[in-house]
Amino acid sequence: MSSCSNFVPAPMHCRHCAAPVTRVLADLGTAPPSNAYLRLAALQAPERWYPLRVLVCENCWLVQTEDFAQAHELFDAEYAYFSSYSSSWLAHAQAYVASMVERFGLGAHSQVVEVAANDGYLLQYVDQRGIPCLGIEPTASTAAAARAKGITVVERFFGVALAQELRAQGHSADLMAANNVLAHVPDINDFVAGFATLLKSTGVATFEFPHLLRLVQQCQFDTLYHEHFSYLSLSVVLRIFAANGLAVFDVQELPTHGGSLRVLAQRSDTSAQPISPAVAALLARESAAGMMTADFYGDFQLQALRIKRELLLFLIDAQARGRKVAAYGAAAKGNTLLNFAGVRGDLLPYVVDKNPAKQGQFLPGSRIPIVDEAHLRAHRPDVVLILPWNLRDEVMAQLAYIREWGGQFAVAVPSWQLC
Ligand SMILES: [Zn+2]
Repeated sequence: MSSCSNFVPAPMHCRHCAAPVTRVLADLGTAPPSNAYLRLAALQAPERWYPLRVLVCENCWLVQTEDFAQAHELFDAEYAYFSSYSSSWLAHAQAYVASMVERFGLGAHSQVVEVAANDGYLLQYVDQRGIPCLGIEPTASTAAAARAKGITVVERFFGVALAQELRAQGHSADLMAANNVLAHVPDINDFVAGFATLLKSTGVATFEFPHLLRLVQQCQFDTLYHEHFSYLSLSVVLRIFAANGLAVFDVQELPTHGGSLRVLAQRSDTSAQPISPAVAALLARESAAGMMTADFYGDFQLQALRIKRELLLFLIDAQARGRKVAAYGAAAKGNTLLNFAGVRGDLLPYVVDKNPAKQGQFLPGSRIPIVDEAHLRAHRPDVVLILPWNLRDEVMAQLAYIREWGGQFAVAVPSWQLC
């Protein structure tokens, strides 16, 4: 029995249903905020590390990152993610716009609102079709990039208060898009209720988020980080939406981020859109997988430890044999993996990233330097570890020239694989 066994922190209350939450999905120890990249001068100073535990509510089955003191400090990071740096994500956005315009007959008479519009990566395709659109984006640097594309942006956090203000100004949406933001909001009830407030009675809201079923089954533990508050299944989303004035009428499975869902919803007080049989089919699959039972979540921590062990065994063996290893993609996933595994610059000397804003900086925690792609040709690594494994095909095509010197690619999740 550890001497700490008498220390039991006060239980957290579920972000959705407010029940006490005590079941642990994963305990990744402590880590700095995943996007707190360090400039050279910052290496002289200490970093703040925070507990990184993810819990499961056994009342509503919402999986959620544990609250801790000073959570607001996570968002002081100067760096912001710019969606337009990923060409596959741009193609995804363009295809989304084409499909929604056709399915819901959008045109010059319509209004499209995107929440977390980022740098205008998606609304630019709406604007090009002459459809009025409005972006909502609280981060100043990405909002400025969206405005440079000609997109009107409201630089605020979204929720009921902002939705009511926009309503009062005469806005109402035929289509609202929220890609990879539902999981990032601390107050998920207020966020969802904002959509019910701003939608027309015939309007449609779509949400994309990584599917918890895939996350758990493939032990994608590196997608856990502090700024990611919720991890969602269709079952949980249905419940949260119903409590906040939205009803799901269709769901699509997408390959993005290792397996995502696109949920289509309308206001609960309308039945403009018929309910697709895909909704009941996916609910049945989630239920059959056991997502509403504690057993489903029981093995996750052991799998995360296995992935950590496989990565370390490879890196230590490579170093002993004099094989050169590099990493690609200074993204949040990589930071969770490297900090959980305790990997530092002695085992992995640098990480290449395409984003010039990150080059010259250092990964939080591991302090591994971020360099431009020219380093690969100069260093000729034997193995390039792709940290954002969800972009594996895109990265392998981009860096195919490492085969010239016999280089190989590797991914660590869901298990170590050379390719
Ligand atoms: Zn709950």
